[in-house]
Amino acid sequence: MLLVGETRFGEASPAGAGMLAPGAESAELPNDPVRNFAVAGRDLYPVFLSALRDETGIDVPFDRRGILELVEDGEPALRPPGSEWIDAQSLRELEPGLRSFTGAVCHPRDGSVDNVVLYAAMQRRAASRRSITPVHAAARSINVALARPRAVLDDGDVVEGGSLVVATGAWAGQLEGLPRPVPVRPVRGQLLMLDGALARHVIYGGGGYIVPRRNPHGSPPRERMIIGATMEDTGFVNETTPEGLAELTAIVRRVLPDSTPIQLLSHWAGLRPLTPDRLPILGPDPDVPRLLYACGHGRNGILLAPITGEAIGALALGAQSPHDISTFSIARFAGVE
Ligand SMILES: Cc1cc2nc3c(=O)[nH]c(=O)nc-3n(C[C@H](O)[C@H](O)[C@H](O)COP(=O)(O)OP(=O)(O)OC[C@H]3O[C@@H](n4cnc5c(N)ncnc54)[C@H](O)[C@@H]3O)c2cc1C
Repeated sequence: MLLVGETRFGEASPAGAGMLAPGAESAELPNDPVRNFAVAGRDLYPVFLSALRDETGIDVPFDRRGILELVEDGEPALRPPGSEWIDAQSLRELEPGLRSFTGAVCHPRDGSVDNVVLYAAMQRRAASRRSITPVHAAARSINVALARPRAVLDDGDVVEGGSLVVATGAWAGQLEGLPRPVPVRPVRGQLLMLDGALARHVIYGGGGYIVPRRNPHGSPPRERMIIGATMEDTGFVNETTPEGLAELTAIVRRVLPDSTPIQLLSHWAGLRPLTPDRLPILGPDPDVPRLLYACGHGRNGILLAPITGEAIGALALGAQSPHDISTFSIARFAGVE
């Protein structure tokens, strides 16, 4: 297998916050098939990470303590399936560092993964597998009218294979030669990282989220917090801005008591690949079955990485997808430019 790719400023996978949050992100998941797919994606993580550790020796930090969605006023009448209500006192015991809230909805099986370490592990695996040949280049165009689809690279080289997978993130719609428009656009997200252990769980609240992130290589290991994230239509501009950082700081201030000292370590941004209905595009092109799409994962591409890999990997090998991905077909955008 040829893995054609280049590193681009703004690529999302190492920039994200790493939440595995089908429960807390349920507003993004409009119906049962989508929710079930996201939950199945989350539940693949333990086996996926254990296989990755066996193959690469890299132990990707993984937190499955649950996500707490803070509530300001009263227990919500409707909650996502599988979630639990936590009252104010239990919340204080779980998270003594937070401001006072009426309670929280707990999504007990949600959590987070360190996507930076995950990305490094995936790269190590790609580099070490004999069945994978990495090609560090940009693909300029594709030709899928031939018996074996081809990609033309920026330097003019041509590569071909039995099938071709478009997995080029926010840039997915830019490849020349696509048989139809691929409606994926970049949506910038800014994040900041604070020093210290300000919360134990992933917290949704104050208009954003807080994700604990432990640096296992520090001595002693250092606790840090990621605060996220903005959603901005700025095209391919990927810088952080004073306004974005102010918005993120305000999230912290709404969730933590005023007296909590905060120390900024770093900030960065990334480009989410977003489709018009905010769901990914997965599976074969309706007219060109050898062309497979694995793009447009929006806010939940880390969550959906292993399940996308299982589905698209099977199809690329000519087998059936072990998961029903029909909801995510690009055919749903027929006629949409
Ligand atoms: C701020 C932020 C927070 C996020 N938080 C979360 C989260 O908590 N949980 C979650 O599940 N998801 C989260 N996401 C979303 C998630 O990161 C993305 O959905 C996911 O990483 C998309 O993966 P991708 O491989 O499609 O795109 P990318 O990671 O962007 O990868 C695309 C790759 O294709 C390469 N490429 C592009 N065009 C070409 C070309 N022509 N030729 C060769 N290579 C090319 C790029 O250089 C890049 O390496 C977040 C994203 C952001 C930005």
